[in-house]
Amino acid sequence: MRKYYPPSASAAPRYAGIKTFLRLPHVKTTEDIDFAILGIPFDSGASFKVGSRFGPGAVREASVLMRNFNLNLDVNIFDYLSGVDYGDINIVPGYIHETYKAIEEGLQPLFNAGIIPISIGGDHSITLGELRAAAKSFGPVALVHFDSHLDTWDEICGVKYTHATPFRRACEEGLIDAAHSIQVGIRGSQYGPEDIAGSHELGFEVITANELHEIGMKEAGRRIRERTQNSQVFFSFDIDFCDPSCAPGTGTIEIGGFTGYETLSLLREMKSLNFIGMDLVEVLPGIDPAGITAYLAGNIIHEVLAMIALQKKNKNRRIKKRSN
Ligand code: MN
Ligand code: MN
Repeated sequence: MRKYYPPSASAAPRYAGIKTFLRLPHVKTTEDIDFAILGIPFDSGASFKVGSRFGPGAVREASVLMRNFNLNLDVNIFDYLSGVDYGDINIVPGYIHETYKAIEEGLQPLFNAGIIPISIGGDHSITLGELRAAAKSFGPVALVHFDSHLDTWDEICGVKYTHATPFRRACEEGLIDAAHSIQVGIRGSQYGPEDIAGSHELGFEVITANELHEIGMKEAGRRIRERTQNSQVFFSFDIDFCDPSCAPGTGTIEIGGFTGYETLSLLREMKSLNFIGMDLVEVLPGIDPAGITAYLAGNIIHEVLAMIALQKKNKNRRIKKRSN
């Protein structure tokens, strides 16, 4: 049994070498690993600023500073997990359906092997391809979606496959178990009350940003746990959930969001969730001058890895694939 983990930083400085996520070995394998980091550098689904195609590279580069031990969860990720940087999906710029096919085919072997794919976008349109692959292995999954936007519109500019519509399409395709799904952090100007009503009609629970500020992270965590129960959870994190003061490098900012501290505090309330996959989308390095958005994105993934490691440590991960 091989184990894949970052090399010691005492042998060479962290900034040396080819940049992979957490300095993990770049190996395209489905053997002997618990998770795989992938880049999905597609941003042709974006409706406003583009540039998240360079997100995977920036998040990898920022991530080399991070170490293996999570102080708050008291766990060393690589005491319990083996993982690789799997490389990028060969997407097709400008061609969303060809890209969806590449994403689905790229992720399927990982889901089938019970490995947790953690994908770095890319804009939020990519999640539909990931959910198509997930549903093939698990059936409809519970979606935990952090975002300032609902992404459940029917279309923009007359087209149905964009970064503002993936979760409506996923519901229509039967990829999501909406009764156990929740959208968190919604804010900003809307077209009308029909926007949130649209998510409710699809069956999602919604916690707006205003509500989240009022009830606090512990209560929100309780509601997320209550909603998802024992479901298989796909976690989709749009970096614009965080406040633009903490995450300026993203294409569709909304004010009144959450700090890095608040975000990581809420994540830790989700440590009992059965994560089967995750993505982190909408990082635009071209407008992220100090690199703080990319580093925050890396830390969010790090926190999720630590939670999964903790579940292994406590032997309470409960993942079951669909028997077919
Ligand atoms: Mn989004
Ligand atoms: Mn968004």
